[in-house]
Amino acid sequence: MAEEAFVSDSRPVDLQWGQICNQLKMEFGETAFDSWLKPLTVGDFKDGIMNICAPTAFMKNWVVTHYSDRINKIWEQQNPNVKKINFIVQTGFSDRRSVDTSLLKKISSSPTPQNIYGCNINSSSFGLVAGASLANDTSNNNVTNGTPLNPNYTFENFVVGKTNEFAYAAARKVAESKNVSFNPLFLYSSVGLGKTHLMHSIIWHIKKNDPTRNVIYLTAEQFVYKFVKALRYKDTAAFKEQFRSVDVLMVDDFQFMGNKGTTQEEFFHTFSSLVEEGKQVIISADKSPTDLDGIEERLKSRLVGGLVVDIMPTNFELRMGILQKKAELMGIELPQKVAEFLAQKITSNVRELEGSLKRVAAHSQLLSGKEITLDMTQDVLKDMLRSIDRKTTIDEIQKKVAEHFNISVKELQSSRRARTVARPRQIAMYLAKQLTSRSLPEIGRKFDRDHTTVMHAVRKVEELIIEDQSLAENIEILRRTLEN
Ligand code: ADP
Ligand code: MG
Repeated sequence: MAEEAFVSDSRPVDLQWGQICNQLKMEFGETAFDSWLKPLTVGDFKDGIMNICAPTAFMKNWVVTHYSDRINKIWEQQNPNVKKINFIVQTGFSDRRSVDTSLLKKISSSPTPQNIYGCNINSSSFGLVAGASLANDTSNNNVTNGTPLNPNYTFENFVVGKTNEFAYAAARKVAESKNVSFNPLFLYSSVGLGKTHLMHSIIWHIKKNDPTRNVIYLTAEQFVYKFVKALRYKDTAAFKEQFRSVDVLMVDDFQFMGNKGTTQEEFFHTFSSLVEEGKQVIISADKSPTDLDGIEERLKSRLVGGLVVDIMPTNFELRMGILQKKAELMGIELPQKVAEFLAQKITSNVRELEGSLKRVAAHSQLLSGKEITLDMTQDVLKDMLRSIDRKTTIDEIQKKVAEHFNISVKELQSSRRARTVARPRQIAMYLAKQLTSRSLPEIGRKFDRDHTTVMHAVRKVEELIIEDQSLAENIEILRRTLEN
């Protein structure tokens, strides 16, 4: 077929990407697509390796954690010549198509201190824009300047069960009460269990009931970015003023606050001053405050000073409830048998559960409304189900990698930096990312490291695979043994 032409000609790559984008949009929905996938562009394609470029590191990391597996799969199906996809950050792209000009206008005409960043927005269309001043917002679905608020992430659409009822109640309480009852509210869980959903629900609720309240919602990474920018432009006064004048400050994915001393210090002061003034602070993270890596003790102790709530992994009942709710929102008929099947099979997180439902729905729509059946579901999801059945665990990867390199699992998890141990460790981390659906922080925990170390290891091994033939072969052997 035309596979050869595909390799040597860059146009079909673009075309193919276009098709993949259509599929992704269908599976993940327009909001997620517009926020995370649309800004991606296709880069070089060489020796079976396709580069996909993201405008910021934050965005790249997000895409890698949430969408890379699926992008890989679709591309693999579309064209077997694409052996591997590399996600990279491409900066300095002021002429990028993806820069949102309406956003630019909004920021540069804004009377708020955001002006200080206006001149730089071209160099990063996404990472820096985060503040959500609800009081000034006039648009309907985009109350945050850059981080779109998902219209489906409301309390009404959040299905409550035993594992999340406490988190739900706490979020509602914070959204409903004028007076601060616990400060901060700290929500934590592993990935895909509804933290962001609850955060957005709080904003929607406040927006509806008390639109004069000034809310800022952003991720920790965006906070860091903004602060670093402010430092660079010597405008920390405006930065402080912006953050300290809010009624509600919400920081999502706090684990990405990083080890940066001055930023953490700034956050600490912002946080303390808000709490002192009786302003609500809401934080989410993938770990409890005490387990957070790289966060100063005094900040940790402040974080546990309010209400710390975790969302536990879902149970079967809740998964059934969520599937029914999502099917209703998508306007599809989901037979009980299919729902039970999905709820039994896809247990790791709600995002995956929802993803599988979207795939099945998209498939049925493509076949002009063909009824969803168990057979069809099993067929559409076969690669996903196969990988779930295979269930390669990180423990197993550590064991096999250690055996292969003739070291012990203990050494693999140790802090030793000798090359003979460090390299196998990086390879094990890389394989864990490739072969399991665990998040970077989860993988990190298994090695007693933080997510940045895992990210670095993955990147390093990706480079080495290209440079070092024998290492690439070793990894291939390991991958095959693990996949069997
Ligand atoms: P997190 O921020 O914890 O990683 P998200 O809030 O992004 O997770 O949730 C992932 C997906 O799962 C979202 O689409 C969200 O709507 C859905 N989800 C999670 N928990 C629930 C729930 N209890 N009810 C309805 N949808 C849920
Ligand atoms: Mg989240």
